[in-house]
Amino acid sequence: MIFDTMATMGHEEVVFCHNKDAGLKAIIAIHNTVLGPALGGLRMWPYKSEQEALNDALRLSRGMTFKNAVAGLNIGGGKAVIIGDPAKDKSEALFRAFGRFVNSLNGRYITAEDVGIDVNDMEHVFRETEFVTGVHQVHGGSGDPSPFTAYGTMQGLMAALNAQFGNEDVGKYRYAVQGAGHVGMEFIKLLREQGAKVYVTDINKELVQRAVEEFGCTAVGLDEIYDTDAEVYSPCALGGTVNDATLPRLKCKIICGAANNQLANDAIGDILEKRGILYAPDYAVNAGGVMNVSLEIDGYNRERAMRMMRTIYHNVGRIFQIAKRDSIPTYKAADRLAEERIATIGKIKLPHMGNNGPRFLGRMRGH
Ligand code: NAD
Repeated sequence: MIFDTMATMGHEEVVFCHNKDAGLKAIIAIHNTVLGPALGGLRMWPYKSEQEALNDALRLSRGMTFKNAVAGLNIGGGKAVIIGDPAKDKSEALFRAFGRFVNSLNGRYITAEDVGIDVNDMEHVFRETEFVTGVHQVHGGSGDPSPFTAYGTMQGLMAALNAQFGNEDVGKYRYAVQGAGHVGMEFIKLLREQGAKVYVTDINKELVQRAVEEFGCTAVGLDEIYDTDAEVYSPCALGGTVNDATLPRLKCKIICGAANNQLANDAIGDILEKRGILYAPDYAVNAGGVMNVSLEIDGYNRERAMRMMRTIYHNVGRIFQIAKRDSIPTYKAADRLAEERIATIGKIKLPHMGNNGPRFLGRMRGH
């Protein structure tokens, strides 16, 4: 069964990691290493079943292959999950045991933070392996990716404005921003710096207040955001907010934000195209986070990071070109761009070999 699934989804390797003493049950899924070592976050979640954990690892690792490929990185796709409750089941032993498994893969998989994991957990992993990104800045890590993700989202937005309106005058348009968290607030700040009109909502009232008082945004209700008269709807909170219920209400001409998995399903992407709403594919727009950590591999540098973020403009623009070229919706064009890049590079490069693994420069372990 599992081999059938791997064949269908295109996975190279799935590793089941078990350590009784540490209470570790983890799955590392390596989807594709044609472009380079598989990079993707570690998620800790109280999965109801092992099957659910496996499905999540398989689905998310495949998503990382596409994201990393479209981002232009020499990096493949992978993901790891730990079965457990982040509120109760964390321990040094757990993360060190996990780190040893990552190390045993000799660089074929590089881990990072994801849901349920914080920088302190990564410190433990880092004690056992260097194949980890998103470590603390004191160790030469890249720190909080959110400002980079926001800046990258801005690049995606400019590409979308250009494709939809023929100009990149950010300040000329109105924005409905859903979520003023780490990325959302930075994004709002950048929009306001350009003089744009910004409507904002968040379940956290304090954040809304800050956006209003500090940046001069206009607050709207949680549900009202879908009816807001703005050219751009920018999901920066949750996934699945573009769905059958919200789509008829949206007045925007562009959807561009940092949230993951914005479209509830593919059919929504097809309808968006028919309605003439330009969807800037989420994983291309929000690649700033993974771009930022990927730079840790050969020595993190903030300037290189900013430069890399600007490539999002071209990546998103290229997706719009492919959509036009092949008469397909943009969400499909993003996948096509990834597939084309992997196929082209795959012809000239062999799958990544563990013993030629990535070398992390400029980082120090210990305190
Ligand atoms: P965050 O938790 O800091 O911010 C999310 C915000 O959304 C919070 O303020 C929360 O209160 C708000 N929110 C939750 N539900 C809401 C709702 N129903 N309506 C309105 N607001 C709601 O997270 P973040 O790091 O800013 O990430 C935002 C999104 O971007 C997430 O989907 C995340 O997966 C994605 N993303 C983040 C990064 C990054 O660098 N942080 C990178 C790639 C993708």
